[in-house]
Amino acid sequence: MARIHLKDVAHSYKLRPKSLADFALRPMDHLWEDGGAYALLGPSGCGKTTLLNIISGLLHPSQGQVLFDDDDVTYRPTKDRNIAQVFQFPVIYDTMTVFDNLAFPLRNRGFGGAEVSGRVAEVAEMLELTEDLGKRARGLTADAKQRISLGRGLVRNDVAAILFDEPLTVIDPHLKWMLRRKLKQIHERFKLTLVYVTHDQNEALTFADKVAVMSEGQVLQLGTPQELFERPEHTFIGHFIGSPGMNFLPCLIDERAVLVQGARIPLEPGVAARALGMSGAMEIGVRPEFLKLSNEPLDGAVAVVPGAVEDLGNFKIVTVRLVDVAIKVKVPEHQDVPTGIAYLQFSADTTRLYVNGHLVG
Ligand code: ADP
Ligand code: MG
Repeated sequence: MARIHLKDVAHSYKLRPKSLADFALRPMDHLWEDGGAYALLGPSGCGKTTLLNIISGLLHPSQGQVLFDDDDVTYRPTKDRNIAQVFQFPVIYDTMTVFDNLAFPLRNRGFGGAEVSGRVAEVAEMLELTEDLGKRARGLTADAKQRISLGRGLVRNDVAAILFDEPLTVIDPHLKWMLRRKLKQIHERFKLTLVYVTHDQNEALTFADKVAVMSEGQVLQLGTPQELFERPEHTFIGHFIGSPGMNFLPCLIDERAVLVQGARIPLEPGVAARALGMSGAMEIGVRPEFLKLSNEPLDGAVAVVPGAVEDLGNFKIVTVRLVDVAIKVKVPEHQDVPTGIAYLQFSADTTRLYVNGHLVG
């Protein structure tokens, strides 16, 4: 396995990029530690596949270097990088049997005999393909074909890293859940460096130790699922992660307080002081989970008017109004929603301040 270092890497598909907007990947410097399970999470078109293809060698970056451990592999072809890659749609040999498809990457490397049959049996078992081993791939469902594709990625245990590009897109929902768990188990057992691309936050957050959130060719934050949830470094991440996402409330700031619609909002010590000298749009960010709604005037709480209630089974999402701004609050299923006037309590340790979209830390 290897540590992967993207050193000042950037990529433009244009011959002569004129501005940052012409870059599918803007200049970045990232280190993916050996043995980690990483997810690359972001909306369609943000540059995930471009980044993955640069790591695997399908694409050479317009600038910068790709290092595996301390070895510069920037211009080395994919086959010499010792990487397995699984794509969004099945890449298999239709006329070969499932067994031969799974054995292919091993035989290609000169392995044979018992070693091949042992590994193939192990991977087939994991992916529920044992009964299909003798069948030709052609007749199988799209779902089974994609499992073969996954198996081809997993069969070698001598690779530097395995890269997955939205591999569960064509898999049915039940199996998706099972395969995600399997991939996590495989990672824990073999300690492979895994990079997993997805646009699905649930997939990223349950699968990876660390998630890189991307937007418009940039990695906005590389963090644990907990860090992304509790301390998003950019408002984009606050919106993108969570369901519903973080609330953002325009605020004013002076020497004494942070005010939203005239109501005083508590922040961690020092945060407001650091923002005082900054200029730009100021917003409070707070997740619906970290707000407390009550019909009693709790300590430091602000008066709000409850509106729409969405019942989501285990909990409710209540939209309240603080003068002119709407705020979503997550309320336990058993709690009655106050009517008329209610009180909303912010907690300093879970309330963040953003200037021009960036966290004031
Ligand atoms: P993602 O995988 O996150 O959906 P991509 O890496 O595929 O994003 O694409 C990032 C950007 O680069 C998009 O704007 C896309 O249109 C552009 N792009 C991707 N591949 C090519 C290509 N071969 N030629 C030109 N532009 C491309
Ligand atoms: Mg893609």
